[in-house]
Amino acid sequence: MVNVVWMQGATDNGCLVSFLNAQQPDVYQAIEKLGVTISYQNTINPTSGKDVIATLEKYIAGEEQLDVLIVEGAIPRGPNGTGMACFIGPKSFAQWISELAPKANYVLAVGTCAAFGNIPAAEPNPTDATGVQWHKKEFGGFLGKNFKSRSGLPVINISGCPVHPDWVVQTLVAVLLGKNVELDKYNRPRDFFGEDITVHDGCPRNEYYAFKISAEKFGDKGCLYMNFGCAGPHTHSDCNRRLWNRQSSLTRCGIPCHGCTNPDFPEGTMPFFQRRRLVAEGWKVVPYLIGSGFMKLAKPSRLKNE
Ligand code: SF4
Ligand code: SF4
Repeated sequence: MVNVVWMQGATDNGCLVSFLNAQQPDVYQAIEKLGVTISYQNTINPTSGKDVIATLEKYIAGEEQLDVLIVEGAIPRGPNGTGMACFIGPKSFAQWISELAPKANYVLAVGTCAAFGNIPAAEPNPTDATGVQWHKKEFGGFLGKNFKSRSGLPVINISGCPVHPDWVVQTLVAVLLGKNVELDKYNRPRDFFGEDITVHDGCPRNEYYAFKISAEKFGDKGCLYMNFGCAGPHTHSDCNRRLWNRQSSLTRCGIPCHGCTNPDFPEGTMPFFQRRRLVAEGWKVVPYLIGSGFMKLAKPSRLKNE
């Protein structure tokens, strides 16, 4: 039997809800096939109060083996270093994580809040929130650079706001089967977030991007890069290849990618839905305008009216 504890800190539950929508396999099939027991999960736990505290304490005391610790949500360290901006029973969330993480064979930070801090850690960050082992682009976060779980791996970050359920289920399967999970520079599984994978890949608006046909307003055909600040080309994840609910993605629905898997999300993309200011973003404006003028002229006739 594989023991999994899923702790929720500064979160809106979005990553749990997304995980529960897993398909192929769905959550029940995955749990059954892997022989997993989720012995604690704040939101769906059938028991409460002293019973759940006792369950967690058993892992801390080493009376039961903790195979996987999943952390959802950022870790508030405030106010004044007490961590009591977020607590579960008698202890701060931060204290629970500092006691449970060293006992776990694997620690997964699920969602951008847990991985990098995300919205709870955005300025002015009133609760001094941070990610489990990263603070935005900076390695260290709550557990520090030297932390390794019992398997010898650092915290495995599965970012996304919310996380795609496949990314969680498939990472869980891989670690539990003892497979080597290759990680990128932010300790995320390369299979989903590798340097060669972007949200731009597989977006049906690629042709508009190539021929510089930009959507002017919501609902238009056209690429969302220039007028809506789409972050797809700069964001590493396979949203447009894997799809959400097996059928769609933000850009397929006419909404620009906000770069939610990136470590500097949300500040790195804000303000959302804004027209790009080429000079401010360091672009060479004249070469860009000449290049895009040529591409517009070269567009195939079927795109002439778009
Ligand atoms: S990453 Fe997004 S969806 Fe997941 S807990 Fe944080 S705010 Fe919610
Ligand atoms: S909408 Fe975004 S992801 Fe799609 S082609 Fe344009 S820039 Fe790329």
